Amino acid sequence: MEMPDRLQARTFNEVRYYLLVTPCPQCGKGPWEIDSDDAGGGQHLVVAHCRNCRHAERFRVDCEHPDAGGEPINPSDEPSRLIDLSQWMSLFYLLLEQASRATPKAQARLLGYRAALCLAEALKFFPLGELTPPESAFFSPAGRTAFREHPENFARPRLLDMQSRLPALPKMAGSVRRDRAADRPRRPWWKFWKRPRPTPPQEPDDA
Ligand SMILES: [Zn+2]
Repeated sequence: MEMPDRLQARTFNEVRYYLLVTPCPQCGKGPWEIDSDDAGGGQHLVVAHCRNCRHAERFRVDCEHPDAGGEPINPSDEPSRLIDLSQWMSLFYLLLEQASRATPKAQARLLGYRAALCLAEALKFFPLGELTPPESAFFSPAGRTAFREHPENFARPRLLDMQSRLPALPKMAGSVRRDRAADRPRRPWWKFWKRPRPTPPQEPDDA
């Protein structure tokens, strides 16, 4: 298996998702863990290792929106060039499953929101009005096999039905924003002489 020369990413978040679903060329498993990220002017040189066999790899990334903070993956309506439809669906199921087990509730809401964002990315591959995705939506070897064997899993009505069971994206984004604001240690200015209480560990960005 060959690794692509240069990754064309919309945001760095998209790269994080890519490293979750891209198999290691050495052992066929993964996921990747980022060791270093050398970034400047939208170009990244990421060094990561496989969590399964520790094989290390360098990824050169061109990032269209290098300053996109928060959760956004792909601000455009165009589908991803990094992660195919089947991989977005795998991420959706994975994150939804993690959300169902996560505590506290804020963490569950964050994972649920990320799952919904991945489902929205999968839906970007359908041309307007089409019920079945084009074959070009499957560019990973595993994705091509999955589509060939079970095309019905990727029918648009099925994906839309899953989306309809989730809260709307802006609503989920609002909840995550409120959870983040509530999580910030509040220290009234008139208590500036008091020692700050220890901050809770930050949840990893690449969850
Ligand atoms: Zn490996």
